[in-house]
Amino acid sequence: MIVYGPIPSRRLGQSIGINNIPPKTCSYSCVYCQLGRTNHMTIKRRAFYEPEEICREAETKLQQLEAENRRADYFSFVPDGEPTLDVNLGKTIKLVKPYGVKIAVITNASLLWMDEVKEDLMQADWVSVSIDAADEDTWRKVDRPHGLLEHQDILNGIIDFSKAYKGTLVTETMLVENVNDHAACIERIAEQLARVCPSKAYLLVPTRPPAEASVRRPSTACLKETVGIIRAISGAEVECITGDEEEEGFFFTENIASDLLGIAAVHPIREDIVSTLLEKRNAEDRSILNELLEQGRIIEFTYEGRKFYRRKI
Ligand code: SF4
Repeated sequence: MIVYGPIPSRRLGQSIGINNIPPKTCSYSCVYCQLGRTNHMTIKRRAFYEPEEICREAETKLQQLEAENRRADYFSFVPDGEPTLDVNLGKTIKLVKPYGVKIAVITNASLLWMDEVKEDLMQADWVSVSIDAADEDTWRKVDRPHGLLEHQDILNGIIDFSKAYKGTLVTETMLVENVNDHAACIERIAEQLARVCPSKAYLLVPTRPPAEASVRRPSTACLKETVGIIRAISGAEVECITGDEEEEGFFFTENIASDLLGIAAVHPIREDIVSTLLEKRNAEDRSILNELLEQGRIIEFTYEGRKFYRRKI
């Protein structure tokens, strides 16, 4: 299953996920990644799934929603890795667009120095690019990039893209305590943001089980200071996403096992949310969940005292 959800998102409303990259193929291996460490590290774009297959699944998902009198705000490319590694990304966007649902892509921006990646993303309505650091040392510590990537090329690629892109461009900075939350590091990020001029600069903290157990969220005081520095230097509108905002309103069809697997593949899901969803579908005996756990298709995790489920990669 490539198309999943929709999952609720503070930024995108009800967003149907498109998982166009198999686990876990990425150009980075971020310390905070909720999918665990990257086991297929690459910067080579290639085909993964047939765009027509993705399109068929997207259509089916829209039909399921319509049958329940629900609608989606976005199709969002949020896969098990970096979406721009898919050489068919542009073609897939073109095929899905006629359905009349806006298209979002959340990218780590590592390939934005490539013209063909810029061209693919130009077709999306909303693009989020990661800027976790604007100095090379911190970038290497937090994002742990592929060895052939050049940080300056990426920063320049983001700026070039921002000048040409006509849709809504936002940035995403994941803050990790004692890694990229120092004032000097934040100032450099803010200077980069001033060049990019995003519609909004989102600051995130790790709220789901990260790749490295040592990863911690910065303190509230540090976050407040960070917001102040970024606003003052970049002039950008800043918004913090720090926790439970996106956990309401998940959608399950009759095929609960398939829905759970689809969402948990890219979005570790809290135990209380799963329980509520099972109750809504009158499946409160939890046998579906227990079966997936026994089969080893879903794994249980605890993070910050809360239990989560994630698909086994
Ligand atoms: S957080 Fe995104 S960019 Fe970083 S390793 Fe995970 S999938 Fe790749």
